[in-house]
Amino acid sequence: MARCCRRLTADIAGEFLASVDTFLFDCDGVLWNHQDATPGAVETLDKLRNLNKKVFFVTNNSTKSRADYVKKCLQLGFHAEEDEIICTAFVAAQYLKSILPANSKVYVMGMPGMLQELDKAGIRHIGSGPDVIHGTITEWVQTELDPEVNCVLLGFDENISYLKVMKAASYARRKGAFFVATNEDNELPMDGPIVIPGTGVVVAAVKTAAARDPIVVGKPHHPMFDMIAKSFNVEPDRTVMVGDRLNTDIMWANNCGLHSIMVLTGIATLEEAQHLMTSNSIEHQKQIPEFYLDKIGDLEEFLN
Ligand SMILES: [Mg+2]
Repeated sequence: MARCCRRLTADIAGEFLASVDTFLFDCDGVLWNHQDATPGAVETLDKLRNLNKKVFFVTNNSTKSRADYVKKCLQLGFHAEEDEIICTAFVAAQYLKSILPANSKVYVMGMPGMLQELDKAGIRHIGSGPDVIHGTITEWVQTELDPEVNCVLLGFDENISYLKVMKAASYARRKGAFFVATNEDNELPMDGPIVIPGTGVVVAAVKTAAARDPIVVGKPHHPMFDMIAKSFNVEPDRTVMVGDRLNTDIMWANNCGLHSIMVLTGIATLEEAQHLMTSNSIEHQKQIPEFYLDKIGDLEEFLN
């Protein structure tokens, strides 16, 4: 797709919107910020549905299940079916189901939403909840590992601890072990001076100790879109991704051959996107959106 970061205006919007039939929306910073839908977002999605466009909610957040997201959408005024929720907890569970031998056991760093998706997929798992180290290094090396574990799955885990990183890395080092992560976002989208570390911090800790890289299923990597394409018969060149982060949402769109719209209600600024256009780095080029809008609600007037 052309990466030119131009404003989506009325004169080009009609032809562009007619050329796509699937809309993938990032959630935080696009459809809502915290507990408030962004202006016009609900109406825009309703209008897209009335025009028979497919709509999906696509998020790297691994703490919630699809059922949790349906509830959240309804609370904020969005209509949503479970099938339309593409969250990394669900994608990771389905991905593991597709690659793991029967009777596998997964060591998980994750929150209850991810455990629910693993349970639904029928995957055995251990590791959730707090787990804190005691004693000296001589005692640490006597930590018992579960002989059945053949896979490590990393997601956001507020109970991250030295012992959990130690166990996850030890399992990931096992010969033939599968090693998967939901995403590598560096921080959670919050206002103010406090940085809330994202899943990328969990992943960085474990992969450093394990000395190997996991397969990452979330944006900007392919597995999440592969699943959407396969399950819903979606064609990349008739699909548009709407996002607020350049190094996840927009890079994902460019990696997977989708159209992209950046909105300015979340993390990235227009200046950041325009600055990337001055760079020759391929990594930077992949983060340039095709179009931008101030907010997703601005799309509504183009849909009449
Ligand atoms: Mg976002």
